[in-house]
Amino acid sequence: MSSVAIVRCENYDQKKVDIAVEQACLAANMPSVAGKRVLLKPNVLSDAKEDRCITTNTAVVRAVIHLLKKQGAKEILLGDSPGLQGPSFVPKACGLDRVCKDEGVKWVDFTQNPKTKSVPYTRSKSLPFASILEEVDLLFSLPKLKTHQLMYSTGAVKNLFGLVPGLYKSPCHVLFPTRELFASLMVGILSLVKPSFSIMDGIIGMEGPGPANGKPRHMGLILAAEDALSLDYAQAVVMGYDPLTIPIIAEGLRREEGSVPSSYPVLDANTLVVENFQRIAQQKQTSFFHALIAPFFLSRYIRWRVKRERKAPVFLTEPCIQCRKCIEICPVHALHLEGKSIIIDEKVCVRCYCCHEICPAHAIEVDGHHQE
Ligand code: SF4
Ligand code: SF4
Repeated sequence: MSSVAIVRCENYDQKKVDIAVEQACLAANMPSVAGKRVLLKPNVLSDAKEDRCITTNTAVVRAVIHLLKKQGAKEILLGDSPGLQGPSFVPKACGLDRVCKDEGVKWVDFTQNPKTKSVPYTRSKSLPFASILEEVDLLFSLPKLKTHQLMYSTGAVKNLFGLVPGLYKSPCHVLFPTRELFASLMVGILSLVKPSFSIMDGIIGMEGPGPANGKPRHMGLILAAEDALSLDYAQAVVMGYDPLTIPIIAEGLRREEGSVPSSYPVLDANTLVVENFQRIAQQKQTSFFHALIAPFFLSRYIRWRVKRERKAPVFLTEPCIQCRKCIEICPVHALHLEGKSIIIDEKVCVRCYCCHEICPAHAIEVDGHHQE
């Protein structure tokens, strides 16, 4: 069974969010947490103020903590590891540090002694994962409803990528350059660290050039499911996508790592489609051969094809604050600072858009998207 519970919640008033989260979790058959150690994995892509809607809202995280305490969880832990953050990172700007202090919940540092694991569906590629995964009974994925410039939309499945500590993530874009290959990595991670339950903050999501530079979009929803892929399927429906055109969903279904939602016990996603939601323009899907087989034999060809299909980001000098975060995160060292301008070597750039995700100043345009 892969039912997805979708519940209305119009704003982040804590009492309302507590009620909505509880209703959604119970309707989606949340597993018993009594006596268990539970790791909550919110989306802290970059530690920005929560009104930018990049991170899972603190009211939703608090509501999950309240419910888990009510249901007798032995210990609740909270953690994530954004791309540029090293050891001792705590998410202060987005308010999760405050949540930990108020609720007596421990923030976990994923960079401490990560354990290397071979990821399924990736031809035995290995990645380090947060060691805390081996010490908890349950993992809850707490994503934010968001668009994603590269993968079109992300949710409970891609949120698991944060279990790979900090800067180990960006080189994955070089190893998995196409959307389809990157989706196979995400589904491999799902297979390895399947969450016990997922709860999505869809009260105010993000549309346009997400996951960091889009616009907040009021959706008024909390979504919950046992099957992370089903949850993402429902999110895609609400956003107005054909879910089967979202690479992670298509790959997850093909690998049988999740299902199409079998039921909607509260609200039906098909009745909640936001017609004017600003989606990421989708490119024609590539054939199975070109997407998954050719790259292993024709790496030069596939790099050429990626560059032809995706435009390199454009760097705007005026809003740039010269923080150098884009330079630090670029997996192929395609960027440098000249005076007050970031200069890109387009021949080297692999179009992963990590720079766009990390830029705090809206100084990077991708496919003509730029938010003032
Ligand atoms: S310049 Fe940006 S898009 Fe290009 S490879 Fe570097 S981080 Fe990725
Ligand atoms: S483009 Fe963005 S990330 Fe790069 S230096 Fe300028 S402000 Fe920082």
